[in-house]
Amino acid sequence: MKFLGTAGARHVVSQQLRASGGMWLQAEGTRLLIDPGPGALVRILASRPRLNPRLLNGILLTHRHLDHSGDLNVMVEAMTEGGTNPRGTLLLPGDAIDSEPVIFSYARGYLSEIVILREGGSYTLGRLHFTTPVRHRHAVETYGLKFQVGDLSLSIIADTGFFPELADFYRSEILVINTLTLKHSPLTQDIHLDLEDARRLIQAIQPKLAVLTHFGMRVLNYGPSRVARMLTEETGVEVIAADDEMVINLDRVGEVKKGKSSQSGRA
Ligand SMILES: [Zn+2]
Repeated sequence: MKFLGTAGARHVVSQQLRASGGMWLQAEGTRLLIDPGPGALVRILASRPRLNPRLLNGILLTHRHLDHSGDLNVMVEAMTEGGTNPRGTLLLPGDAIDSEPVIFSYARGYLSEIVILREGGSYTLGRLHFTTPVRHRHAVETYGLKFQVGDLSLSIIADTGFFPELADFYRSEILVINTLTLKHSPLTQDIHLDLEDARRLIQAIQPKLAVLTHFGMRVLNYGPSRVARMLTEETGVEVIAADDEMVINLDRVGEVKKGKSSQSGRA
């Protein structure tokens, strides 16, 4: 799994203090691009070793917000060779395609299939299995993801306000948590996770590895690695802060190849 971006809040995205390309997941012979925010295509083509968008089996949006969907249309074109080779699956919540679609109508014809994500849904893409266990608390329809890769379970807790049941829905060995802020303001309280929320989830789930990502300005200024170290000390679980281009080897949990962001978090 490669992080093509680790940016969270709008200022971090619009100034590209961290990249915002989402995540490239390659497992069970399937390649899935998750949340292609602004710059996803550029990050993919610049990746070394190379990532080839024409080999993607699908693209998934956890929700319609710009930092998760900005490059969706260009990625559909890249996956389908500009529409000359229709293929691939797009998975997204209903409200991302209903009233104000984030996918252009002409580009829909380039896809083999469009799948609407639902609470409690389970999906198979090639040989890759995953579920969207629960609808998140966010400003728009949002789902997290739980993958089963061989014996390994991997959860991605996308944007959400905290609720205790999250821990039951996302019990897994590798836990990726969108940790936007250090401490809630009234603005983030009901729609995002802060450090204390992440700590509660890690404590309750006890994964082998927890990965923080989707950082806002406060986390970046404080230092994501510092935050991760604090959580490791408090929970006894290995917690790391994702950086741009970081790769997690799902065959060997714990083997992490660091990316290029500096300790201060500035790309
Ligand atoms: Zn969001």
